[in-house]
Amino acid sequence: MRPKITFLVLSFALSTASLVAQAQTPRTTLDIYVVDVEGGNSVLFVTPSGESVLIDTGNVPPGAVRDAERIMAAVKDAGVTEIDHLIITHWHGDHFGGLAELASRIPIKQFIDHGANTQPTPQTDEFLQKTYPALYAKATHTVVKAGDKIPVTGLDWRVVASAGEVLKSSLPGAGKPNPYCANFKAGESNAEDPQSVASYIKFGQFRTVHLGDLTKNKEFELMCPNNRIGTVDLLLGLHHGQASSNSEVLVHALRPRVAIMNDGTRKGGEPEVMQTVHSSPGLEDLWEMHFSLLSGQEYTVPGMFIANLVDDPQPNMPIAPITAPAPGPGVPPPPQHNGTAYWIKVSAQRDGTFTVTNARNGFSKTYSRVR
Ligand SMILES: [Zn+2]
Repeated sequence: MRPKITFLVLSFALSTASLVAQAQTPRTTLDIYVVDVEGGNSVLFVTPSGESVLIDTGNVPPGAVRDAERIMAAVKDAGVTEIDHLIITHWHGDHFGGLAELASRIPIKQFIDHGANTQPTPQTDEFLQKTYPALYAKATHTVVKAGDKIPVTGLDWRVVASAGEVLKSSLPGAGKPNPYCANFKAGESNAEDPQSVASYIKFGQFRTVHLGDLTKNKEFELMCPNNRIGTVDLLLGLHHGQASSNSEVLVHALRPRVAIMNDGTRKGGEPEVMQTVHSSPGLEDLWEMHFSLLSGQEYTVPGMFIANLVDDPQPNMPIAPITAPAPGPGVPPPPQHNGTAYWIKVSAQRDGTFTVTNARNGFSKTYSRVR
């Protein structure tokens, strides 16, 4: 008996030791989860010390519970028990929509936004008058301006646009003339997209931007005549891949090595944007939340770079892109995706090296620091 007991005790001690070792292994990377909220936006940042920043919360009902649960899955994977800073980029239903559902699932300590809604709609205004003040009553509520810093330990987090105003002076090391300004063509937009809270985030040598749904005309104000941001490693969001944003003055001048597009099954990934991104100097890969029918096979990336499928997969995806139907009654719904959803995860190291992983198929690629 004795040898057996010894063996049991020893193996228990060993497994306990490895568990302890696992629990105590400090996180050294900035982890970024791009969550699938069906053509909305939600991106979770977790620093090495475990501090968290969430940008946006997915869609209004009927998508709100689904999207809040998907955000919570990323939150749990990251080992986070509270959201330290929440940024709502602007008051559109695909960005603030899951907030009340999310707030009922996890404490949120700071609520950050650009201020008042500029595009009145009954659902949004009711949320802002009744629901939102109750959510931030026991937390901090901060209205940010361009140029503000958001205090996140270990990161340099700067607001580069908010409430329609852009950064007035260049970030350190930036400010060179932007050669793409000469060919700029103005774009169209609604009222709220240009109000977006836009962020520049630096972790050691790693640099990324998330600009909410900032529009072409604001991109021009921010990036012309001088590029006030400089270059980045990773471009996040891209306004779902919609052509009211994503001018060359932004995308080509930022020179991202990697872009991750928060598109939907029939939202964004539009040909004009795909051409701009695919021709962006220095771009190594575009990753997408979804295959968008607006891209077709013609413009999309290979499936290994796409995180999500649809509930009823089509036998083959159409080659030609389609034009988005004008909104209104009688429009056929886009392909639905309410089943299992997958995130794209980025793990960035201080030296600028970062790894992108597609949670659906496990495909992973490391982008080494440029020497
Ligand atoms: Zn949007």
